[in-house]
Amino acid sequence: MEKRFVYADNAATTKVSKAALEAALPYFTEIYGNASSIYSLGMNSARAVMKARQQVANAINAKSGEIYFTSGGSEADNWAIKSAAEVQAKKGKKHIITSNFEHHAVLHTVDHLAKNGFEVTYIPVDEFGLVNPEDVKNAIREDTALVTIMFANNEIGTIQPIKEIGAICRERKVWFHTDAVQAIGNVEIDVSDMNIDMLSLSGHKIHAPKGVGALFVRTGIGLPNLIHGGAQERTKRAGTENVPSIVALGVAMEEACRDIAGKQAKISVMRDKLIENLLKIKETRLNGDAKKRLCGNVNISFRGIEGESLLLSLDLEGICASSGSACTSGSLDPSHVLLAIGLPHATAHGSLRLTINEDTTEEDVDYIIEKVNTVVAKLRAMSPLWERICKTEGISD
Ligand SMILES: *Cc1c(COP(=O)(O)O)cnc(C)c1O
Repeated sequence: MEKRFVYADNAATTKVSKAALEAALPYFTEIYGNASSIYSLGMNSARAVMKARQQVANAINAKSGEIYFTSGGSEADNWAIKSAAEVQAKKGKKHIITSNFEHHAVLHTVDHLAKNGFEVTYIPVDEFGLVNPEDVKNAIREDTALVTIMFANNEIGTIQPIKEIGAICRERKVWFHTDAVQAIGNVEIDVSDMNIDMLSLSGHKIHAPKGVGALFVRTGIGLPNLIHGGAQERTKRAGTENVPSIVALGVAMEEACRDIAGKQAKISVMRDKLIENLLKIKETRLNGDAKKRLCGNVNISFRGIEGESLLLSLDLEGICASSGSACTSGSLDPSHVLLAIGLPHATAHGSLRLTINEDTTEEDVDYIIEKVNTVVAKLRAMSPLWERICKTEGISD
């Protein structure tokens, strides 16, 4: 097969869409006014920000006054969790519930609070990476300040029963935050129907630029300031708005949420073809739930192989993929997500994440299948670990 370039790492970041880029461009050069200025050049910027806020709100059935622009998903997660902690601590509530396989933007924030007088309950996920809503229900206490559970996992793509968890939190009058960075545009989200009080999203995972995101905060939740200074973001987050990126985020949200069902139908066929064919390679396993998973997520472990070598070899073939998550590569620890679903360290190390999207073609899929097959065979042929596995378990290689 002729060499191709295949980008299969859309959970790490995405290409900015043509529509988002074109909408943003004039705000760099022609309409460069400060959105806080009162002359019309500034007012035009302010109007553009207002429109984007409405676009983001519409995509998740929120009100525009409930959307706060941020520098991305990490900031939104930090803001939501630290705010809830600050507000609730004043009422004597210092207990937080989360899962053990959240993104580090959530886990490290919660860890920080745990070092500062908060008590944290980490709900374990099952072998497929699912949170049981009953576990959340049982963990809620009189002093629970917040429940924060991610909508869809960035590594193994599991989609959590968010509506059920939301209903439990609402009934028990506990604030509910969800990191929906990976779910936006891949799953229908209705913050009202799902009883979500706070939701984080990020631009660069949905074809907007890096460095822009948003936090939804339900009316009535008194959100403390993140950055003190000017009156931007209704005085909550000071600093002159990143107008071009905000405009791009609005357009990207509209595009991402326009035809979710159609996108799911198209992409999941390619995902399932990848899964089916890659699992034909011996001593492999699918990580995450086969059904309750993001339409573009494939995560497979190959025994006897080191994930980093697999990635480097695939890169030489023109394929961009990931092992665990971009944040954990470069460290020797296996991904906390794969350990949370019960994988042994060695198996977790040999995992491959492919995240495809609407730009992926059938030819790309066939190319990936062919190259993963040849690369895995080549690496196993050189692997002392694989040799040992074959010998001790009687696998013919
Ligand atoms: C990428 C990601 C984030 C971080 O978003 P940034 O905009 O890169 O800060 C947070 N949570 C999840 C689930 C993500 O995939």
